[in-house]
Amino acid sequence: MIIRKATAFIAALLIAAVFMPLQAGAETTEEYDVSGVDRTDWNAIQEQYRFDDSVRNLIFVKYEGQAKATLCMYEKDEVNNWTEKLNCPAYTGGNGIDKQKEGDCRTPTGDFPITQAFGIKDDPGSQIEYLKVNDNHYWCADEYYNQLVDISQQNHDCRGEHLIDYTKQYAYAMNIGYNTEGIEGEGSAIFLHCFGDSDHTLGCIAVSEENMIKLLQTCAPGTRICIYDN
Ligand SMILES: [Zn+2]
Repeated sequence: MIIRKATAFIAALLIAAVFMPLQAGAETTEEYDVSGVDRTDWNAIQEQYRFDDSVRNLIFVKYEGQAKATLCMYEKDEVNNWTEKLNCPAYTGGNGIDKQKEGDCRTPTGDFPITQAFGIKDDPGSQIEYLKVNDNHYWCADEYYNQLVDISQQNHDCRGEHLIDYTKQYAYAMNIGYNTEGIEGEGSAIFLHCFGDSDHTLGCIAVSEENMIKLLQTCAPGTRICIYDN
């Protein structure tokens, strides 16, 4: 009996020794695994903007399939080398990327400027000028297609998105400069915003609220977002 108990005790210790480091590791690392991500195109884009002083930050979104993506944000140092400042999971539109038209639940593919920062919550210290959303703000989908509208300034019965209603998603957000010409039907209100309740978006990019705060606090005016599947 004593030997059996001792054996059981040693076995328990061994099991604990095997599992404890795993648990500790899971707690200490929040980094998302991007080891399998092909960065060939990212390197080309980084080179393209390396000596362009108007671009200090690049956000890359690598589409992984089934509305899942990896978002990585880079910042340029004083000798124009890019340093990764954030990598995290993200969601795209439910039907993936390669947006064609309004309502297709796809996120646009390409290299776009971040044109604006806004949110329902207080400015978290955004580098890009931040608009605190109020009841008058809409993102228009009709007369002023794909533009921010303040109905206290414009006499307009807007049928676009009433921004303050999206309390989770638009707690913090940035506008992705897609269809800035406002061609009706090609898609509007394409944002980088916080997670809502679902595991995809209607055509935006979503990250956690915590990561959205980091993006706002770090990304300087001139930031670009590059969305690709390779
Ligand atoms: Zn409108």
